[in-house]
Amino acid sequence: MTGSNMGVDNKFPGKDLTEDDIQNKIPLVAKRSPDHRTTFECGGVEFGGKLVPVMAGPNTVENEELIVKTAIGIKKAGAHFLRGGAFKPLTFPYRSAKFFETREKGLEWLQVAKKETGLPVVTEVMEISKIDLVAKNCDMLQIGTRNMQNYPLLTEVGKTGMPVMLKRGFGNSLRDWLMAAEYIALEHDRLNQPTKIVLCERGVVAPHTHRATSRFLLDLQVIPAAQEITHLPIMSDPSHATFWQPWVKSMMLASIAAGADGLMLEVHPDPKNAAVDPLQCSSLEQFDDIMKACRPVAEAIGRTVD
Ligand code: PEP
Repeated sequence: MTGSNMGVDNKFPGKDLTEDDIQNKIPLVAKRSPDHRTTFECGGVEFGGKLVPVMAGPNTVENEELIVKTAIGIKKAGAHFLRGGAFKPLTFPYRSAKFFETREKGLEWLQVAKKETGLPVVTEVMEISKIDLVAKNCDMLQIGTRNMQNYPLLTEVGKTGMPVMLKRGFGNSLRDWLMAAEYIALEHDRLNQPTKIVLCERGVVAPHTHRATSRFLLDLQVIPAAQEITHLPIMSDPSHATFWQPWVKSMMLASIAAGADGLMLEVHPDPKNAAVDPLQCSSLEQFDDIMKACRPVAEAIGRTVD
């Protein structure tokens, strides 16, 4: 299947993937026919199908009580996955009582929350030396925006054969992103197993257009653009993109309408006191309200969040 019969017209300057790229640089993640879509199951949840799985939880797994309380609350509201960082790419190096990582302990607490609720867990892995440890304690490995082009990490994560969520680098094109996904897909292929990757749009930097309103810009357009080229499911993370809770609900709804195959958002029982990124966190009550709003929008386009 070539790019041109998938509707890719290289005459359009905005489409930076050429026919040659699609055939020779991303053969494993490129669609082989217009309706080619990967579906895979992870922790009892189907990705790439009718369901739009919702992943919710705090930025940081601050302590056991917090993560268990969050897991119980988000499950009640209808989430499918618990998210939370134990190993965190904090943007400055000084750890303190306010900014910290809980590392091995955080992973243990995620497992406690999983046992309590049955919710599968997605969490970030940042270092090759920690892949085995993180992999043992989650259902899906998350590669964060800052590591999207850390090719040795992608290769080693791919070798685990585990499902991977690959967040988009905040300064990267769709071309860069799909080529990064190909590194993981290549390892899955070498293991003789189907590709289990979900892409996640999390906001990009577009310096001249939006910096006065937000840190990043949610690139909703990349959802149909990616779906034109790749069979991988693509989800959206409005919390990290907007960096501002009051905009999360509308961007969740817009993501579903744009065709997102999954959603991620930050939820904390006490957002004002969240250790990291309090401005983008939704409370449990806000999350419940967001889920209620998502249902009719998903239904309207033949999808479901339940
Ligand atoms: C996260 O999801 O916790 C995170 C740090 O996201 P990103 O890599 O998109 O900044």
